[in-house]
Amino acid sequence: MIIFITMLLSLNLHAQDPHLHRLSTPAYYEKAFGRLENKSNAGQHSWPVNVLSIGHTNASYQNYGSGAPYFHHGLDIRANAGESVLASAAGKVVNIENYMGGPLYWEIAILDDQGFLWQYHHVDRNSMTQEVLSAFKTGARIEAGSKIGEVVKWPITSFGERYHHIHLNILDGQKKFLSPFLFLLPLQDTSVPVINRIGLLKNSRELSGQTVRGEYSIYAEISDLVHHDKFIVPPHSIEIEIDGAAPHVVWLFESLPGGANEEALVDDFYVPSMACGDYSCRRPVIDLGFQFKLPVASGRHKLILKASDFAGNTTVRDFEWNVESF
Ligand SMILES: [Zn+2]
Repeated sequence: MIIFITMLLSLNLHAQDPHLHRLSTPAYYEKAFGRLENKSNAGQHSWPVNVLSIGHTNASYQNYGSGAPYFHHGLDIRANAGESVLASAAGKVVNIENYMGGPLYWEIAILDDQGFLWQYHHVDRNSMTQEVLSAFKTGARIEAGSKIGEVVKWPITSFGERYHHIHLNILDGQKKFLSPFLFLLPLQDTSVPVINRIGLLKNSRELSGQTVRGEYSIYAEISDLVHHDKFIVPPHSIEIEIDGAAPHVVWLFESLPGGANEEALVDDFYVPSMACGDYSCRRPVIDLGFQFKLPVASGRHKLILKASDFAGNTTVRDFEWNVESF
């Protein structure tokens, strides 16, 4: 009886996590051979559903308490439940799988002609079309725009709204998760990212004031919105310029830093003691010093931070601090 209850509890915990990731890399990933630099129709694919809003980007911080934090690694494209999901790219159906158990976690994966793997997650199993099911069996192609299924009804709300969505991942030949924004038609997006605050970090924790000694870093809380007023996502790119030196890109999410490993480096790019990312909390607090050597010379320093979303909306803010010698 106790075992049974424990099983129920753990199933229930799993159901709370929207994008449970696989425990191991599927063998079919070997079929991918795409290279972005050779892609001829990047940015020209139709969206698989009518977009209500973007729920998460590939860079979004995810920490649901059970298991390790991870980068979201694909796009959550929010849509109405029951809406048709259309293949964005033509190709071969290389996988149909329930990757985590339960009715929410069905995947259809299509290998397009240029070698990119498109993973459509959260397709309702009962709605999968005969065409897609038989194409998986026979190896037949399916064309772009073909219906592959419908958006599953998502049982959990987030910020007061149902979270029906298709989670779209795209993998290249090096098994790197790429930003689906690079492949899909441009979305009209006029929301400019907001730099909420910038401050000092000491031992990976927020330091009050603007003076620091010894090793340190700098955090920035930067939020953006895409067609929504509450579903905060991080920026696509961040550039910093320190003490008048040439600008340096410290954050660029065209691909995931860990390739196919969505957990790798997430606690380096983000500040775990300050960031959150679950159904009720979204706070992208980014560590600017992780990939960049911050000045250690004593005296006053100044940085100019430029944050942009994928559509190119950009915001700028500066920050000054003192380094004191011992
Ligand atoms: Zn997702």
